[in-house]
Amino acid sequence: MKMIRKTALILLSLVLIALSFNPVQVQSKSDNAASFNDSVNVSFPGSITFNLDIDTERQIKDIRLHYIVERESFTDVTQEITVGFPMPIQPEMTVGWKWDMRTTGSLPSGTIIQYWWTVIDIENNLYRTETASVSFDDSGYNWKNITQNNITLYWYSGDDGFATDLMQTCQDTLLRLGEDTGAYLESPVRIYIYSSSYALREAIVFAKEWTGGVAYPSYGAIAIGISRSNMEWGRRALSHELAHLVTYQMTSNPYNSIPVWLNEGISMYAEGELEADYENYLKAAAVGGYLISVQSLCSPFSAYSDKSYLSYAESYSIVDFLIEKYGQQKIHQLLTVFKAGSTYDNALLEVYGYDLAGLNKQWQDYISAIYVS
Ligand SMILES: [Zn+2]
Repeated sequence: MKMIRKTALILLSLVLIALSFNPVQVQSKSDNAASFNDSVNVSFPGSITFNLDIDTERQIKDIRLHYIVERESFTDVTQEITVGFPMPIQPEMTVGWKWDMRTTGSLPSGTIIQYWWTVIDIENNLYRTETASVSFDDSGYNWKNITQNNITLYWYSGDDGFATDLMQTCQDTLLRLGEDTGAYLESPVRIYIYSSSYALREAIVFAKEWTGGVAYPSYGAIAIGISRSNMEWGRRALSHELAHLVTYQMTSNPYNSIPVWLNEGISMYAEGELEADYENYLKAAAVGGYLISVQSLCSPFSAYSDKSYLSYAESYSIVDFLIEKYGQQKIHQLLTVFKAGSTYDNALLEVYGYDLAGLNKQWQDYISAIYVS
């Protein structure tokens, strides 16, 4: 046992000595013996291919691509990909790596990716290309855009009036959220208006049949299919998704996410009055005594249609209750407490003086007084 340890220690020392005698040398992008040229090919929404042309007579032992996706997060995570290459090395060759979005999920149009390459030759010289950036754009359309108060709206189908109409919806939504919850957009967001749900689904990997709009909160982006023929639905859906971006900016933190009922409730509230279909579900559940508890609505909603409708309707109602009964300052305070990473019970206790179970009781009494006589 002792001997083995000693041997291991000696081996380790040898490795350390070898390392210290043979340091990796950082070279500029090109020298006489080697030159590198990087390029990138965007195929929205499916993939990005990064290529590196290498011209060298030296033997290479390691090639890596490094990239960072720009988004609102608490740590900038650098991804590192070791790229394979043919042996023996050719004097001139191109290596590449294809980022298949089906393996990671969709990125919204306009996402910026910074990247650079490193190459190490057998003499441990390290070459690093300059940091470059690529915008992952949906270039399949002639996008026009308008900007107002932190919102840039991109569209390609329909006249200017169509776009200003939708922009007005966005501004009204921000106003309503600000007045009733104190929530606002802290940083700019991008909204892409596709001409139909079909066109939208072409712009997403793994789109579901029913996908009409999608929010990418940490990227500050929305993609949605709206035309003149479905404006009423479009306005509601746009307000709903925009509110998700606002809520994310107001509450995101490295520790906790917020309860689903609060997130969806604010988005439902942002749409305007609860639609009759939803209200019918709410009323029936209140009268029939089968309301889903606030505690259960903290987790992702059931995919079953009836339960899903009821979950959204209840979320609206809980948020509406908190705003009606306690006002704007309190719900704004709730969002602020969540931003600090509070647990659900502690956040409610701090702001309203009761926990989730207490909220469930208060809200069910409130809803029963309205619907059950
Ligand atoms: Zn939602």
